[in-house]
Amino acid sequence: MTFQPLPMVTDDNAPFWEGGEVGELRINRCRECRTWFHPPAPVCPECLSMNVGPEVASGRAKVAAYTINVQAWSPELEAPYVLAYVELDDQPDVRLTTRLIDCAPADVRVGMPVEVTFQAAEDIWLPLFRPVKGY
Ligand SMILES: [Zn+2]
Repeated sequence: MTFQPLPMVTDDNAPFWEGGEVGELRINRCRECRTWFHPPAPVCPECLSMNVGPEVASGRAKVAAYTINVQAWSPELEAPYVLAYVELDDQPDVRLTTRLIDCAPADVRVGMPVEVTFQAAEDIWLPLFRPVKGY
């Protein structure tokens, strides 16, 4: 049996973790001031409205920071792999911690355009990112 740490799914974050089943990156958004925010919460951090809910984001982002992991902490994660902080094109101050795939670690750059792709893991879909083709 192998071990892969997975997030705990709650009512608030279920749309985020389950959107990948239909290819959707679902990010919470305020229906009053239209601010996107992550992680999911029941209150808008900008205007404190409780009229919030998940909406489908573009899935496009840019690498804001990254690190290359060379230790194989888990059998599923073949080292080396790239852990990245990406900022969404929809609203750059919304950032996700993720893993970059389909990209050699030496080729990663800050500012590199990436797009979401999903990896199924038990009953959730992990949002991972890969370089935009043609970049
Ligand atoms: Zn708001």
